Amino acid sequence: MATISLEQEINPWEAQAARFDFAARKLNLDEGLWRVLRYPSREIIVHFPVAMDDGRIEMFTGFRVLHSQARGPGKGGIRFAPDVSLDEVRALASWMTWKCAVVNIPFGGAKGGVICDPRKMSQGELERVTRRYTCEIIEFIGPEKDVPAPDMGTNEQTMAWIMDTYSMHMRQTVTSVVTGKPLTIGGSRGRREATGRGISIVCDEALKHLNIARDGCRVIIQGFGNVGSNAARLMSDKGYKIIGIAEYDGGLYNPNGIDVCALSDYRQRNGSVLGFKGAEAYDSNDLLIADCDILIPAATENVITSRNADQIRARIICEGANGPTTAVADEILADKRIFVIPDILANAGGVTASYFEWVQDRQGYFWKEAEVNQRLESIIAESFDDVVRYSEAHDVNNRIAAYMLAIDRVAFNIKQRGIYA
Ligand code: NAD
Repeated sequence: MATISLEQEINPWEAQAARFDFAARKLNLDEGLWRVLRYPSREIIVHFPVAMDDGRIEMFTGFRVLHSQARGPGKGGIRFAPDVSLDEVRALASWMTWKCAVVNIPFGGAKGGVICDPRKMSQGELERVTRRYTCEIIEFIGPEKDVPAPDMGTNEQTMAWIMDTYSMHMRQTVTSVVTGKPLTIGGSRGRREATGRGISIVCDEALKHLNIARDGCRVIIQGFGNVGSNAARLMSDKGYKIIGIAEYDGGLYNPNGIDVCALSDYRQRNGSVLGFKGAEAYDSNDLLIADCDILIPAATENVITSRNADQIRARIICEGANGPTTAVADEILADKRIFVIPDILANAGGVTASYFEWVQDRQGYFWKEAEVNQRLESIIAESFDDVVRYSEAHDVNNRIAAYMLAIDRVAFNIKQRGIYA
């Protein structure tokens, strides 16, 4: 690969496009379909005013990108963060297309975002931003068009406000317009833990594939939020040993295993993992390169780059976050023969449970948690097998295999549907 700057290396759109191009070339993808799939089908930018608590009127910028609806309505989260950009939302939208295709659920890919800092806003301000943003994009979302969900900086409450705003305009309650809602207004049992559960399932499958025992298998997790803490709890219940947790303000290490439930309680009470007595303090960056069997980056993008990939000592990397590894780092990890479970497979448990939520909302019939978990397990385990088989058949790493499988499925559907003139 030609030398590129770190800035280029960590641009999420470039990262996505590099993998897409490589996989499409390997697949011998028809040139026309290549052009169709390389770019999003719709990008919306909205600028809208919101009255703040102190009476000022503030302007906000929001995005909603639909990458593809070849296999069904767009699906993808809404991110509230100060550094959201169109490039980032575009990349995340295309990742959603590939993710939904890898797990073979009938959705296309989309993503949204609003430039704002939710930590500095009151609940009232957040509600007004959410409702006005929803209004600005209202004709482009809907149960059969594009179905948002939470992402960084948004949560169940945000989804409840979007659902309510949309419903007021439609003059009827439409729960299936968003997923990740509170349980009492159309949410699904098991949705909250689903991404962490998916991670625990792909790790089980990887260990079976590599013939490594699960009991005592040493795991380090970056990010103790929704994804990381649920993965830690479920994996620790299964017999994995969680030896390290890296957070933004510092990390924890205990070679004998961290008591995850005690740590969750501690974090809840203190707002930080720092000072927890059941482990020693450890530098967060050093935890990424510490000795372990499985490393789970479950915090944010671009944490495994050309700067640290050659120092990583894990046998398996399971990507809980979206885009934690750059394309340049991929090559280094491949040379080191590290088994990478790529984001579009590893964290697909969340969107799979979102699909279940959408189905249940449309049926008006809600499943027991055991049923959600069992269906999730079967989809994720089967998808893991599909990706590994593709990787062996085409002699490519798991990430490229996942992209190839996804591109193949989406391209096939476009060919079946034909190009509308
Ligand atoms: P979250 O906000 O609940 O948790 C993220 C955690 O990571 C927080 O505890 C935060 O303090 C920590 N963190 C942030 N930056 C860090 C850094 N540089 N180093 C160490 N820790 C850091 O978010 P989440 O929902 O758990 O999502 C995490 C990642 O997983 C994101 O990339 C998200 O897009 C992806 N993801 C989430 C879901 C889901 O269902 N929540 C599904 C698929 C993918």
